[in-house]
Amino acid sequence: MTTQNKDTRQTNATRRDDLNKVKNKLKEMLKNMKNNIHWIECECSCSKGQQAYVWPWGNVVHVCPDAFTLGTAWLESTLVHEYSHVYLDTKDIAYKGDPSYSGLSSEDKTNNADNWGDFDSKY
Ligand SMILES: [Zn+2]
Repeated sequence: MTTQNKDTRQTNATRRDDLNKVKNKLKEMLKNMKNNIHWIECECSCSKGQQAYVWPWGNVVHVCPDAFTLGTAWLESTLVHEYSHVYLDTKDIAYKGDPSYSGLSSEDKTNNADNWGDFDSKY
């Protein structure tokens, strides 16, 4: 086996592992969304630039007025982002526009809320 083949096999195995991890977390989030009562609260005002937020102790997604000005696809990915905080305990490691976003490790991507929102907008 050449080094390149070995590297390709390891890369494919890693991608399969990552894909299974994402699939399992997505199932977990959907199961929790189906089995739990959760609320969306439309806020009249928020901090400048803020589109939505959740408090760490609750399952209420607070949606800010700005979120309704950016289109339905953006709003949908914002809700997935916020629900990933609620049900997957994700963090805001990097936002999509941050320079560090594209360099996140697979593990960080799985634990980063904006990757879940971005995943939703792609699939
Ligand atoms: Zn967030």
